[in-house]
Amino acid sequence: MIDTPQPLVVGPVTVLTGIDNGRYPHGNSIFVEGSEGTLLVDPSLTTITTGGPPAPPDQVFCSHAHEDHVAGLGRWADAPVLIHEDDLHGVTSLDGLLDIYGFDEAAGRAFRQMVEEEFEFTGRPDATGIADGHVIDLGDVKVDVLHLPGHTRGHAGIHVEASRLVYLADIDLTGFGPYYGDAWSDLEDFERTLERCRDLDAEWFSTFHHKGVVQGRGQFLPLLEAFIAVIERREIELLAYLGEPRTVDDIVSHRFVYRPQIEGDHIDSVEHRSMTQHLVRLERDGQVHQVEPGHYRAG
Ligand SMILES: [Zn+2]
Repeated sequence: MIDTPQPLVVGPVTVLTGIDNGRYPHGNSIFVEGSEGTLLVDPSLTTITTGGPPAPPDQVFCSHAHEDHVAGLGRWADAPVLIHEDDLHGVTSLDGLLDIYGFDEAAGRAFRQMVEEEFEFTGRPDATGIADGHVIDLGDVKVDVLHLPGHTRGHAGIHVEASRLVYLADIDLTGFGPYYGDAWSDLEDFERTLERCRDLDAEWFSTFHHKGVVQGRGQFLPLLEAFIAVIERREIELLAYLGEPRTVDDIVSHRFVYRPQIEGDHIDSVEHRSMTQHLVRLERDGQVHQVEPGHYRAG
């Protein structure tokens, strides 16, 4: 039996809770109904497995170009696709999607196969890029696009004033913490985005993965602060590890992002991209220096 929790309806917004509460590879898609049209946000693998939203969408918006957020794009071939212009490249083709991760050849090959087989990815060269502040007009319901970069360059959420709901996509408030491990991720953009999230005024805060929907700023803010704190924890742990001179390869093998028992061809790439961003800024700020080329030590 497939575990599909009931959708949550908040005014014109329906949160289509994903299988396993939206744990990867699934996720919680959003369906918005207005007097002049419907919008599906982030067509997840669940929308393929379970038959999708209550009605066919007139338009689809993707929060960013990652495999789990674009799985259903091929299924809604007649619906125009919108995505922030900085991630547009990633939905046009599978090659475009792979560029965003920036994996080496072996990891890229394994990932390509997984995206084709498990996520049924279909490129949408007809997709349209939009900018921060773009309004998707559904008649009596307006959907505002919020550019929230860092996870990817074009990562974006939405605000539906009629439901007092903000959808934060992969600012997912999980214990894993912020993910900035792709070629197109940026740690400091993510930090500025999280700063912006502290000021979000809404009643409902919806995320793509298993934290689901949080009600009220009183619940949202502690979860946001715990999420932000993971970045600081990674940096403090890196500084402690650099009590002895270490190379980047040492840092990658040590595992600051993933637990040591997690396996996958892409793990080294994500550790490398994530932790070199910390390393570069620690060196820039004078907290780390090279005792010889390529050997880093705190102090
Ligand atoms: Zn993502």
